Amino acid sequence: MTYEDIQHSTRIALFTHINPDGDALGSTLALMAWLDSLGKDVRLFIPSIYAESLAFMVESKYQEKITVWDKENEETIGADIQSRDLLIGLDFNTLDRIGAFREHFCASRARKLLIDHHVAPQADAFDSVSSCTEVSSTCELLYKILMKMPGIDGNASALPAFSAKSILTGITTDTNNFANSVFPDTLRITSELLAAGVDRDAIIQSLFFNYPERRMRAMGFVLSRKMTILPCGLAYIILNKHDLAQFKLREGDTEGFVNLPLSIDNVKMSILLKQEQGTANVRVSIRSKEGFSARKMAMEHFHGGGHEKASGGKLVIGKDISHMRKAASYVEHAAKAHFAQYKVDKLSEQQV
Ligand code: 5GP
Ligand code: MN
Repeated sequence: MTYEDIQHSTRIALFTHINPDGDALGSTLALMAWLDSLGKDVRLFIPSIYAESLAFMVESKYQEKITVWDKENEETIGADIQSRDLLIGLDFNTLDRIGAFREHFCASRARKLLIDHHVAPQADAFDSVSSCTEVSSTCELLYKILMKMPGIDGNASALPAFSAKSILTGITTDTNNFANSVFPDTLRITSELLAAGVDRDAIIQSLFFNYPERRMRAMGFVLSRKMTILPCGLAYIILNKHDLAQFKLREGDTEGFVNLPLSIDNVKMSILLKQEQGTANVRVSIRSKEGFSARKMAMEHFHGGGHEKASGGKLVIGKDISHMRKAASYVEHAAKAHFAQYKVDKLSEQQV
């Protein structure tokens, strides 16, 4: 994305992925606030509502500039998208990640840009792609892009304060509070944002010290009763709708659960399956340690993708599995198929 891309546009639409996380929200909100400061008419289109635990990120001023997908209002939403003269996608690599907005996105004749940090972006769907995987997050990449803009010129203090805060929030969540994917620039940028006045303590407080009690109660139950560890090094947790109802869990309450088994020495990969309300889908989150590919596992067995060590996907009840009860054996089969390749790798290493 260059300044020329936005200079001649007045009505701009931003898009991010379904089940938006902190990086998806942080990057789109940060760009929105900056474009807003330039006098642009910006609207953010989100395919599904963000978790309550991330609601603190959305200041009321920006709330009215957000459209969450709603089948009832499809016509109005479609017309709004077609009236935009620039479309910008953030934090996704393929159009299937923007859910039902996809066909409206494709139908638009406007210029289309992508800013993203996943591998293999769908370049033919965009006029220009800013993609880099050697960054912590889309927020980090966006920061680098914004620093080159006239009026900012490398000075973080020239960013709208809300953009600066949103960027640091996205960096914090996508690095799991600076535990993964931290590059030298990640810390430099963080330092520049702190110097520009971003209140990191407030971000940490909102992100990590503000959960409802039910989440912690559910975590205890999950760890003691729901975690299975296979000899190959795969840990999995399956939460069906009864488990979710028992603890009255809402969207976002299980955030971070998938990371927990990785703290165990012989666990190499962790999978969390969560039955979705009102659909036949089971959401899948996968995390892995160095040398093990969450991304491959997601692509090969769960219709998904993502990053090498943090990926996601889904299972469809009625297609991939006949019933939720079959989820465990599906995962165990997937583990057997997937982990076989590491044995081959280790063998060939020994032969070398
Ligand atoms: P999470 O487990 O936090 O939902 O997702 C982790 C990573 O996997 C994120 O980078 C996200 O973009 C990616 N991801 C999650 N679900 C899907 C999916 O259904 N398809 C693809 N391609 N990527 C996903
Ligand atoms: Mn991201």
